[in-house]
Amino acid sequence: MAALCVLLAVIVSARMTSKSEVILGGVQGGYLTIENSIFTDPEASEETVSADDELDWPDIDINETQYSLIRDDPDHMLTSSYEPETSKLSEYNAYFSVDAIDYLEDFISLINDEGYKVVIGSAYVNWAWQNKRFNGLWWQYYEYGYNGVKVDKDTAVELARKSVMFPGTSEHQLGLAVDIFEKGKNDSAVAKANTEFYKFLNENCAEYGFIQRFPTKKMLLTGWDEPWHYRYVGEEAAKFIMENGLCLEEFYAHYVEDFYV
Ligand SMILES: [Zn+2]
Repeated sequence: MAALCVLLAVIVSARMTSKSEVILGGVQGGYLTIENSIFTDPEASEETVSADDELDWPDIDINETQYSLIRDDPDHMLTSSYEPETSKLSEYNAYFSVDAIDYLEDFISLINDEGYKVVIGSAYVNWAWQNKRFNGLWWQYYEYGYNGVKVDKDTAVELARKSVMFPGTSEHQLGLAVDIFEKGKNDSAVAKANTEFYKFLNENCAEYGFIQRFPTKKMLLTGWDEPWHYRYVGEEAAKFIMENGLCLEEFYAHYVEDFYV
């Protein structure tokens, strides 16, 4: 266990300082190379080489909005002026892209019909609101210290960047991402332990065009561990991604040359 922790620490620190090549792993095998080592999917069921050539990849235009890869990287950020057309969910005080809201309504109905009470966390979040949240957090670290230690402004901003998405790097701004919780279980630690709920969502989300965007096992590629965050990419891509155990970065890397995380 200690050795594993050391390895993870090395990988995580390498991730922060250098770009890493995405190699497709999917359900099986390694999916990320860093300094000549391959990080292996901890849930791999058997050892295989890259499945890239063996898969029947959808014939899509990766530049369409529904596939947009938004992340904390200058090449994949949204500007403050990006505002999708949204409308309000019927039963919740939350907004979603008009292109996908019907699919989200149907997905939520299915989950409720299964006997769960759905709570919607964030859905569409505009740039200004994300900016306000982010500024509030770094200012708090700067003003009151981080874990009791006084930090300078740059450090406060870097620390805030690790827990709240920097303005323009949240795909909630696309209007295609939604945080889904079971009622009473929306604290992050409780939600992470609510595996039965998310198993049900993962088994059914692709039918409605959604993927689980930040699964724990793909954290080194995505940078986030948020099982509650679902993203609309359309049914064809969603089925392909979920059935093959991919994350959006792996999917994206197939279509875009020289893509690194
Ligand atoms: Zn989210």
